[in-house]
Amino acid sequence: MNFHVLTLFPEMICQAMQSSITGRAIENGSITVEAVNIRDFAFNKHMKVDDYPYGGGAGMLMQAEPVYLAWESVRKRMEAPCRTVFLTPQGKTFTQEMARDLAQSRDLIFLCGHYEGIDERVLEEIVTDPVSIGDYVLTGGELPALVMMDAISRMVPGVLGNEESGENESFSAGLLEYPQYTRPQVWHGKEVPEVLMSGHHGNVDAWRREQSIIRTLRTRPDLLPQSDLSNKEWNFVRQLKKQWKEEAAKKNENV
Ligand code: SAM
Repeated sequence: MNFHVLTLFPEMICQAMQSSITGRAIENGSITVEAVNIRDFAFNKHMKVDDYPYGGGAGMLMQAEPVYLAWESVRKRMEAPCRTVFLTPQGKTFTQEMARDLAQSRDLIFLCGHYEGIDERVLEEIVTDPVSIGDYVLTGGELPALVMMDAISRMVPGVLGNEESGENESFSAGLLEYPQYTRPQVWHGKEVPEVLMSGHHGNVDAWRREQSIIRTLRTRPDLLPQSDLSNKEWNFVRQLKKQWKEEAAKKNENV
């Protein structure tokens, strides 16, 4: 997987990607990361890449030509066209499923905006996937690009070691992950659930699955319709809902 990031702040990309698991993945050749400085493609002596928006309004806009030339410098080195992701609060919200889909690509170009954004005309020409990382506005596309590259990298073979397998993680089966514990067995008087000490793998798996369902129902019930719950587990969900409703009603009575 080769990531190509078009940005005004290449050092942000390089520094962050060289740490931890993505850093190791770069070292072992599972991924490569290239940060292309859009300013290198400025066409005036002050190396300016932004200008005032036509029609007025606050802030500055990145100009079309330097962005296009930066993109073309990457694109022309490739044998086949590849997807160009534009980081924008107006894009489709990034999900684990999207990460899985993008991880199938060999090359991905990320375009990071800054200031008030980028001249629309170049976006129309080069962007295939406008993506947002959430309903809030950041100062630039670098952090969103890093978020996306981190999540996508984890799906590239060779990036996660066996001990870091992403198999049972949150969203892998449409459920959140179960609670986890490590040593010591008792901390602040709180004991690790007994079943985890039993050495009985079947019981541990059943407990974890149940905890995943409880957790998802409590904090992200919107995920459940897309999950792989069996009929028996849906009955469990209904029973839990009923129980929680009764408990809430009792609590209200006592107030
Ligand atoms: N004026 C733009 C708008 O209202 O849609 C926002 C521009 S924002 C200040 C500057 C840049 O940050 C954007 O071009 C984009 O690349 C990036 N950005 C900000 N929030 C983002 C988000 N939630 N997801 C992805 N990129 C974001």
